[in-house]
This record gives sequence, C-alpha cells and structure tokens, in this order.
Amino acid sequence: MQVIPITPRGYCPGVVKAIHIVNEAIANPLLPRPIYILGMIVHNRFVVDHFTQKGVITLNDPHKSRLELLEDITQGSVIITAHGTLPEVFNKIRAKGLHLIDATCKDVAKTHDLIKDYLNKGYHVLFVGKQGHPESEGALGIGENIHLIETIADIDQLPRIDANIFVTNQTTLSIRDLEKIFHHITLVYPQAIINDEICNSTRIRQEAVLKSNHDVDLCIVVGDPHSNNTTNLAKLSLNHTSTPTYMIESVLDIQTAWLKGVQKVSVTSGASTPTEITAAVIQFLQNYQE
Ligand code: SF4
Repeated sequence: MQVIPITPRGYCPGVVKAIHIVNEAIANPLLPRPIYILGMIVHNRFVVDHFTQKGVITLNDPHKSRLELLEDITQGSVIITAHGTLPEVFNKIRAKGLHLIDATCKDVAKTHDLIKDYLNKGYHVLFVGKQGHPESEGALGIGENIHLIETIADIDQLPRIDANIFVTNQTTLSIRDLEKIFHHITLVYPQAIINDEICNSTRIRQEAVLKSNHDVDLCIVVGDPHSNNTTNLAKLSLNHTSTPTYMIESVLDIQTAWLKGVQKVSVTSGASTPTEITAAVIQFLQNYQE
C-alpha cells in the first residue's frame, strides 16, 4: 500500500507556543501552585493527559463556562488555553488574586482585537463560529451586538440589523463552508465589511488535503474529536474530494476492513495532534499487508 503523508500536518505555531508555556510553568518553582488550565490547553487528550501526569490540573466540564470553572479555584496559577477566553475571565482571575498565564494564540487574539475595534466604532458584529467552542465563547463575550452565525439559516433568522456590520470568524473553520456563509451574508447585507480570519495554519492544512486527495482510495485524519480543525479536515476530505475518510485518535482505532483493496492512502492530522501519534499511524499503514 502506498502511503501519502500530507504536508503540512500536525502542530501549528499556536499549539507549539501553548505547550511551551505549560512546560515553562511546570519548570518554574516560583510560580504559585497548583497550576490549573481552564479547559483543554489544546484539543487533544494525549496532550492533556501528558500534563496531568506532570501535576497540572485541567478543568474541563462541558456543562460549565470558563467563568463557572473558575469558581472552584482559590489559589495558584491559571493558564488560559490557546483558544483564548472572554475579558470577564481575565478580570475574575486577577480579582481572585490568582496568577494569570495567557497562552492565547496570537491569531485568536488578533480576531478579538478586530472585534473590539469595530464594536467601538458602533458596528454590529456577525461572528461565524461554532456554538460552545471556547474560541466562540471568547469572541461572543467581548461585548454586546455580537451575533453568532453557525449556518446560512442563522443569517436568515437573524432580526434585520440596520447598523453597520462587521463580519469575522473562528480561526479553524472549513474554508469551503466559510466561503458559502460569507457569500450569503453579502447577499443579505451588501454593505458588510468582511474579514476572513481563518488562520494560515488551518488554511494550508486544508488546501493540502484538497490537493493531495485527488487520486487516493482512502484518507485517514488523525486527531481528537474535540478539535475543530481536525474535524474540518475530515469533513473537507469527505465532502470536497469524495474520498472515503476516517477520523481516528490513534493507530489503535484503525479498522482493517477500511484497508481492503486500498492501493493508496493519504494521512493528515489536526493542528493539535502530537507528531508521534501520527507517525505511528503512518508506520502501521506502510507495514500493513492484507
Ligand atoms: S489552529 Fe490557528 S488559531 Fe488555532 S492555535 Fe493553531 S495557529 Fe492558532
């Protein structure tokens, strides 16, 4: 079987930076303990488990907001994840006298700054993102007059906005889905200012899948189901390259039935997937014999 490792894949600069920040915190004996992370530092359970083994406490309850998670912390250091968070969370950490460590990716921070600028100019903001995702939660918490758009239907259901409109988005969306949503927004609000904020790492990983999958029999996407950029890589492969595609967390999830008659398989991974997890998948496929 021929294996095509798609390039680029795996860790993006924002994830590398976030992991580095946690490692530095662990190595610094002067930092107040315990060290908490508010949510998954990056959306991959192997990375989270690695830090748990080193004594870092990840607070991750899908039924609680970042603000609610903070309620239980009375001392120590709190790390904000790569996805960023809302200003109220930063304020509350400081108000509680906790030590704040910010691992927000610079691309996420840039989107938040843009939203702030346009709100200050009196604009309404349409934020295209995923409900419940920490990046969306952070963007929506910046102020009033921000409307979450997940689908084209959400645009039509929104009460008519007469103010100036600024449109931006979560950094890890599908480039193809976003094109369609932006197009529909321009039909309803031709005057809207649109700023595509899909980050460069997400874009080049998605474009590489579109380019590499034109003649493969199967595509394997390695990553955690919590990871938005991983699930979008898989969706893009399936829906826009018509390639049978499976998303797996590790080599243990591969089902040999998928490989029956497969001559050529491509492999990619989300921006938060550790390199060694993907390498094990590639090695398994290279050695596989029916
Ligand atoms: S996927 Fe993009 S926005 Fe998210 S952490 Fe990586 S570089 Fe930053």
